[in-house]
Amino acid sequence: CGIVGFTGRTDCVKVLLSGLESQEYRGYDSAGIAVLGQDGLQVRKAAGRLANLRAELTQNPVGGCTGIGHTRWATHGEPNEVNAHPHTDMSGRVAVVHNGIIENFAELKSQLIDQGVKFRSQTDTEVVAQLLGLCDRGDMRATLRQVLPMLRGSYALVIASASQPDTLWCVRCNNPLVIGRGEGANYIASDVAALLRYTREVYLPDDHEVAEITADRISFFAPDGSPIEKEIQQVGWDV
Ligand code: GLU
Repeated sequence: CGIVGFTGRTDCVKVLLSGLESQEYRGYDSAGIAVLGQDGLQVRKAAGRLANLRAELTQNPVGGCTGIGHTRWATHGEPNEVNAHPHTDMSGRVAVVHNGIIENFAELKSQLIDQGVKFRSQTDTEVVAQLLGLCDRGDMRATLRQVLPMLRGSYALVIASASQPDTLWCVRCNNPLVIGRGEGANYIASDVAALLRYTREVYLPDDHEVAEITADRISFFAPDGSPIEKEIQQVGWDV
């Protein structure tokens, strides 16, 4: 029930974990991260508390400057490690974290199964990862233009792709999402509180606006792909 993303020039794992920690109050049953580094896209997950994910990361460390993280409040599929986010497509090149519910997931899932896609989890979220993976030709913005109109329901999504390893994308529909601008690093979270130790400059995306984020740039696009100018907001000290 908490989402984080980081892209910068330093390792992302600590930032992701601290972001998840400051959103712990939202409640969760499992947690996970996906990191883009020298070994491509690496995913680590654990059922239960964040301490379990930390223990998993001690056993099987990952490193890289771009990553996404999630604490899950299960709606579709029991709370276990397989159903924990991030979810990846069949090729393991696209990773997604999601808050909310994809209401037409069953229909999309059966269409994907007919096309030969093999599902690993029982979640609604995995259809998003599989759809993006199936449609992506290395231009995630174009892929999102194609896939987002297929989704019904509520979502905040953050997406990472091994094809564009320095970039993250995020989009929301009726679920919270905030983007923080740092110095040579940018941040994504469900709750502005998770960003305050890094920055006071935030963007609040509107429903269906896609943000493309690298260490040095945050760009916004309308659903038809046209660029949008967005104003940055200053968060007051009393938040
Ligand atoms: N519906 C998704 C799931 O059950 C996301 C739940 C959440 O918002 O944490 O995996």
